[in-house]
Amino acid sequence: MSDTKMNDEWKPKCPRCRGMNFVTILDKHMRNADKAVALVICSVEECQTVVGALPYDAVWDQ
Ligand SMILES: [Zn+2]
Repeated sequence: MSDTKMNDEWKPKCPRCRGMNFVTILDKHMRNADKAVALVICSVEECQTVVGALPYDAVWDQ
C-alpha cells in the first residue's frame, strides 16, 4: 500500500459542476436491487449528480 495517498491529497470533484462536497442518500428508487443502496451525490442542490453507490451497510448501521 505504498501508493496510498494521504487524505488531504485526494480532491474528488463532481464531474458536472466540479463541486468537491458530496452527500450520501438512501436511494428508494433503485430497481432490481434486493438490498438498500446508498448513493453518493454532489451536495450542490442544483446539481445532485450521482457519483457513486455503496451498499447500505457500508454507510449506515443496521
Ligand atoms: Zn455537482
